Amino acid sequence: MKIREMRIVPVAMADPPLRSAFGLHAPYALRTIVQLTTDDGITGVGETYGGAIPLRDLTAARERVIGQDPYNLARIEAAIAGDPTAAPNRDRAWEGTLSSPVQSFSPVEVACYDIIGKATGRPVADLLGGRFRDAVPFSAYLFYKHAGIGGSDGLAGDSTAAKERDDYLASEALSPEGMVRQAREFMDRFGFKSIKLKAGVLPPDEEAATIEAMYEAFGPDVPLRIDPNCIWSVETSERIGTRLEGKLEYYEDPTDGKANMAEVAKRVAMPLATNMCTTSWADIPETVERGSIDILLSDHHLWGGLGATVKLAQLCRVFGWGVSMHSNSHLGISLMAMAHIAAAIPNLTYACDTHYPWQQEEVIVGGKRQFTDGNIVIDDTPGLGVELDEDALGRLHEQYQRAGLSKRDDVAEMQKIEPGWKPVRY
Ligand SMILES: [Mg+2]
Repeated sequence: MKIREMRIVPVAMADPPLRSAFGLHAPYALRTIVQLTTDDGITGVGETYGGAIPLRDLTAARERVIGQDPYNLARIEAAIAGDPTAAPNRDRAWEGTLSSPVQSFSPVEVACYDIIGKATGRPVADLLGGRFRDAVPFSAYLFYKHAGIGGSDGLAGDSTAAKERDDYLASEALSPEGMVRQAREFMDRFGFKSIKLKAGVLPPDEEAATIEAMYEAFGPDVPLRIDPNCIWSVETSERIGTRLEGKLEYYEDPTDGKANMAEVAKRVAMPLATNMCTTSWADIPETVERGSIDILLSDHHLWGGLGATVKLAQLCRVFGWGVSMHSNSHLGISLMAMAHIAAAIPNLTYACDTHYPWQQEEVIVGGKRQFTDGNIVIDDTPGLGVELDEDALGRLHEQYQRAGLSKRDDVAEMQKIEPGWKPVRY
């Protein structure tokens, strides 16, 4: 079997005005869809980060992918990512610097697994070690947000649709009360059993008050997490961590860098999780040496695919780290890739993050996937279990062209509503 075609389609999907330490989400989030077709007519799909840089890198990789056997993943990885005997590079994935061979390989690898699954009649999870679980738990991923649903509805605060609807997608949530309401809706609609708060937006004590309000509202049986995206100092991290002791399941990236994370780890009595301090294989030795983290939030887009994530989970076991999963804005292809790999990792110790409830548009047949009691259920459908909806893909590609965005820039977006805005460190 040989790969005959590699199609690369940049898309843009409506995204509500969500806040983070970096600013504000633009009205559209960008993704790239990769489709491989084999010489015997089997197609496989993958999805990754969006914008000009992934598009350029994947386009450059195309000629190295075409002609390869989709089963020969090691050779495809070497063709895209280089010498497999060399020490790994520090491949950082942050928006704006998304150029990394490891990241270019990821959507190609996912599409190859989709092909292999279809060719063998098995779901992708069965190819990654087997389904340790059939239902993969996800958490409610809450954001402070302005009123508005994004897309053609426009910028934050200038929203017709938001005035007409009254749900989590449209409503403002910039207070503890607003966030409890958002949480309740996520739990009622999707059945999520744990809650993550994207923080680093309001003064830290207001965000701690939001966690306290949720603890009050939902009780000790609903695990809570807070993620200020590294924007707090060691002292602030210690103060807020101490205040929230006993109320958090884990404390995600309160501060920046391995040395500071290690310092916070010594001062607070709860596990520290990261998707920012340790983001590549080359980061592992120093992370271990310093004792910077207790839980690694894996991400197959960032670490080089589904096979790499299996290896990463095993490494976490070696170091006694818990494993869960990080998320960016994504569509159903990535949702299913995340669910298949999470199903196959025995030591996935926490519910996975997902932005999926914030996305209103899809590129897969049947539209948006549904959560069952907070889970994505893996059935016996071969491959990832998704097919591209060509009309929907065409619409989201046109939207990409119209949106005029070539990369994610939350600071620039925030400055549109607050001129001169800069990230605030506490
Ligand atoms: Mg995070």
